[in-house]
Amino acid sequence: LNQRVLVPAAKDEVRDLSIIFNQMIARLERAFVQQRRLVADASHELRTPVAVIRNMTEVALSQSANTEEYKNVLTEVNAESEHLGHLINDLLVLARADEGQIHLDCEPVRLDLLAFDVVDSLEVLAQERQIALHTQTLMPATVLGDAARLIQVIMSLVDNALNYSNAGGEITLSVEVHDAHAYLHVSDTGIGIDAKDIEHIFERFYRADPARSKAVGGTGLGLSIVEWVVRAHKGAIEVRSTPGQGSTFTLILPCAALPPIEQ
Ligand code: ADP
Repeated sequence: LNQRVLVPAAKDEVRDLSIIFNQMIARLERAFVQQRRLVADASHELRTPVAVIRNMTEVALSQSANTEEYKNVLTEVNAESEHLGHLINDLLVLARADEGQIHLDCEPVRLDLLAFDVVDSLEVLAQERQIALHTQTLMPATVLGDAARLIQVIMSLVDNALNYSNAGGEITLSVEVHDAHAYLHVSDTGIGIDAKDIEHIFERFYRADPARSKAVGGTGLGLSIVEWVVRAHKGAIEVRSTPGQGSTFTLILPCAALPPIEQ
């Protein structure tokens, strides 16, 4: 693939074509490299829980384990299988997205009401972890979107805020509208993200803190899925963070054009 065509000096059509050809080859090369890395990373991620399951079951089978030990092994096996399930699910979503097989079912959606629903459904979980989860200003914001996918995005962001916050923390969701765009902010007072990590967190399997991500059962694919859904909606996602103080993820979507007022 390293063979590129030589760009002739004369400024003619052949020169233009050879430049375009070289650019296309370079893009292909990058795509191949990314694909190879993804396959390697995915194999590694899948192998780890399988190895744990194997080790645990071997331990249980090789000894005259008592009921308590069996219970511990089964609990571990159960947790690793659950993680494996999440991993396979997330990988499938991304593979389908890459293949262009996921289609959005778009309709006018009230982003503020989705934010309210997500807070409502995750309140109990937040309470269990002693984290305050609430909405702040919620301006009415109608966007053209796939409600189920947008809920997934907001859930993912709040889920991360919960996972990377400690007891006593606070998570706030707010929605505002300006310049024909809706802004949904998910702010936490959690561990924050280092500046050097911020540009990478949307990459597949990238984790700023691998130990913590593993402890909370993260797949390292949540934000990659978020980014895909946001892009498919022609939106954007921004991150601001201060390590040790917290992070704010902002989802930006164009507002749906309102129907003309009937005279
Ligand atoms: P994971 O399953 O590891 O949470 P994600 O793709 O959802 O994977 O996130 C990638 C990484 O970004 C996480 O491992 C974590 O290091 C970082 N991250 C995401 N959200 C937050 C947050 N709210 N606060 C601090 N770090 C975060």
